[in-house]
Formats: sequence, C-alpha cells, structure tokens
Amino acid sequence: MGIFSAVYSGIRQLFIRRMTMNYPEQKLDMEGDGYKFDPKGNVGIPGYKGRHLLIMDKCTGCQLCAIACDGIAIAIDMITEADTKVVVNKKSLFPQIDYSRCVFCGLCVDACPFDALVMTNNYELAGYDRKSLIFKPKQLAVRPRDEGEFVKFKVNEREAYHE
Ligand code: SF4
Ligand code: SF4
Repeated sequence: MGIFSAVYSGIRQLFIRRMTMNYPEQKLDMEGDGYKFDPKGNVGIPGYKGRHLLIMDKCTGCQLCAIACDGIAIAIDMITEADTKVVVNKKSLFPQIDYSRCVFCGLCVDACPFDALVMTNNYELAGYDRKSLIFKPKQLAVRPRDEGEFVKFKVNEREAYHE
C-alpha cells in the first residue's frame, strides 16, 4: 500500500507547476523598485527590502540613519568622502553599511528626512569575507544592475508558480 501511495504522490507532483527556478540564470521579478519612505507624507512605500541605494546629492550627513541603526544592528558608520562635493553636505559625511550586520529592517530609510536612502530589489550580497560586505558610500550610490532573466511568480489557491 505504501509503495502505491508513494508512486501516486510522485506522479501527482509531475503535474504541479513549480516555484523553483534556474538560479542564477533566472531570478524572481520583484514588483516595484524596493522599499522607500516618504518623509513628507510620513508613510512607508511598500517594496522589497534589499541592498540600499544612497542618493548622495540629497544626503546632508545628518547621521539620522546611523542613529536609527544603532538601536538595531550598528551596521551604519558615517565616513568622510573628501573628494565628493555635495552642496547640502558641508563635511562630506555619508553612511557606509556593513551587510554582515544589517538585518534589512528599513529603519534607516524611515529615519532619513531627505529621501536620500532607499532600498532596492537586490539581494545578491554574498561575499568571501566580511570586509567585502562593507559597502562604502560610493558603492551604495551605484544602482545594482539587473542581470539575467526575471520571472514573475503567480499565486492561486493551490500553489505559487511561475511560467
Ligand atoms: S536596514 Fe540595515 S542598515 Fe538600515 S537600520 Fe536596519 S539594520 Fe541598520
Ligand atoms: S542618508 Fe539621510 S539620514 Fe543618512 S546621513 Fe544622509 S541625509 Fe542623513
């Protein structure tokens, strides 16, 4: 009886659409650009909480992102980028993020009053050592590249799948 049940179960799986994909050639297509916070409306804009994007031209060096993170993961250090001149940032002080500590909570994004820090859909942050997980401001300022084939997932009553 057990063998029939096992075979039936195996055959049944052949007709169920799969959620698994051929990573890294195929990746999940996340909706939207990533999590943001609207400081004027004081409301979070839903999105995936992946690697941050720093908009240096808007960053005043106020450190509020680092202060917010201090109570969570102590992942943000403020560092000086002397060769980067930003009118609103007299001391050229910008956040760097240690992704070996970050828990992707988004509180730093919520704390930024100038819309200078947002999150992206990028989750590919593996590295060979902890040092490579420390992203300096100029690295954070580069939008992650979307490479590969992106597939949308769908959900119905029985399954989550992609075509
Ligand atoms: S998302 Fe990361 S860097 Fe930002 S507050 Fe949370 S732990 Fe800190
Ligand atoms: S990213 Fe925002 S909160 Fe952080 S230092 Fe710059 S302006 Fe201030």
